[in-house]
Amino acid sequence: MKMTLDTIASVVGATAPANADQVTVTGVCFDARKVQQGDLFVPLKGHRDGHEFIEQAFAGGAVASFCDHAHAESTQSRVGTAPLLVVDDPLKALHAWARYYLLIKVNPKVVAITGSNGKTTTKDMTAAILASQYRVVKTQDNFNNAIGVPITILSMEPNTEVLVVEMGMDHFGELEALSTLAEPDVAVITMIGEAHIEFFKTRDRIADAKMEIVSGLKDDGLFVYNGDEPLLRERAAKVTQDQVTFGLAPNNDLAAEHVQPFRDHTEFDVSRWPDVHFSIPMMGEYNVNNALAAILVGRRFHVKPEAMRDALAHFKATHNRTEWLKGDAGESILSDVYNSNPTAVRAVLHDFVKVPTKGRRIAVLGDMLELGTASHDLHAGLADALDPDQVNCVYLYGPEMHALYTALQAKYDGQHLFYFAEDDQSHLESQLLDGVYSDDLVLIKGSHGMHLENVLSALLNGS
Ligand code: ATP
Ligand code: MG
Repeated sequence: MKMTLDTIASVVGATAPANADQVTVTGVCFDARKVQQGDLFVPLKGHRDGHEFIEQAFAGGAVASFCDHAHAESTQSRVGTAPLLVVDDPLKALHAWARYYLLIKVNPKVVAITGSNGKTTTKDMTAAILASQYRVVKTQDNFNNAIGVPITILSMEPNTEVLVVEMGMDHFGELEALSTLAEPDVAVITMIGEAHIEFFKTRDRIADAKMEIVSGLKDDGLFVYNGDEPLLRERAAKVTQDQVTFGLAPNNDLAAEHVQPFRDHTEFDVSRWPDVHFSIPMMGEYNVNNALAAILVGRRFHVKPEAMRDALAHFKATHNRTEWLKGDAGESILSDVYNSNPTAVRAVLHDFVKVPTKGRRIAVLGDMLELGTASHDLHAGLADALDPDQVNCVYLYGPEMHALYTALQAKYDGQHLFYFAEDDQSHLESQLLDGVYSDDLVLIKGSHGMHLENVLSALLNGS
């Protein structure tokens, strides 16, 4: 990225500082500790107000900074002649800047991906497929919110042909803002689950919120969605743009057939090209759904089925999404510590129990957060997905998991079912380190806020 400060000033509606046409901005940063030479600093409100760090950003190499009216005078007196663009709201200014860079300067095709689960994985698969033919930029890691989306946009090289952008939300209006910012050519919904049901109360309302992804969809754009979900089919009937569905049911435009799960990969065929056999380097039938969505996007961009097959066979998933790792005791760990909710736990258990092993299958499950008043029942309800013949030992962690602990007592004896309170993570770690052997398979899954990555690293390091 390369833009002069006077152009950015006019795009965000700020008065251009003296000599702004001589200042070249080559990047954007909102964390003063990570600023690089040439960046424009964006002070945002987090735990602390980013305005406190404008001086530090200039010291680190920023060539300009946004600043709101309230802080303008005091900040300018601290930073001397360093250029400030004074705006009403730095986050809105960031969006205006990103929108200009996207639509006017670079103007790539845009693929926007949302859904309760599978966004990051589908984003990575889609980018891999499109990269076989185009210069692609994608969201890094999980940077999918009101800050991550504009930062992703501003990270594009000027010659980018397709931008694949993940869009997340936990309230109404967020996807509408992101979709109208990016004006996608293709909008994708992977599936509807229960993530954020604490706020939304019903899956219907979650589906309504996810549908906002089409609010900025171009008139000649394409809506790609999971046709196995009736809530999406109902709502898609009102979408005027072209649309295609994917799923496991044969009535979808692209349906998976002959799905064969293996420990480290999954094979499948698709209804449209029966002679092209697909394989993804990931466990989990649900990942076939994610791949189908990515294939439909590839088809829209005229990527040949064989090229899609090759790209999917080697694509690199973001870490901790159903990822096999080797523990210190030689055990195989299925790391799914990035997030958790009931649909995702059921989906991963469905495949985990099919993985053959000479040892035991062990599940380490942490709380699924943000489930509101339904939380107790949704945790307890997982009891029907756990059977001692298939998952031999269960370690439960966190206050919400106590409901599942109670619900499992009829099935599991005290030697195979363990409960740990939230402040007892070190006890969970030591008990696992003592109780896991080389042939065992260990699934670790919990909401991000439960920090099961610490338990994972204890198992990986043996301490
Ligand atoms: P986040 O909201 O945290 O950004 P995400 O939507 O990006 O999540 P991924 O990171 O791709 O989702 O996957 C997270 C976990 O969700 C996976 O490890 C898996 O357990 C589950 N998952 C992924 N895809 C699906 C799917 N299509 N259906 C059900 N569960 C899924
Ligand atoms: Mg994600």
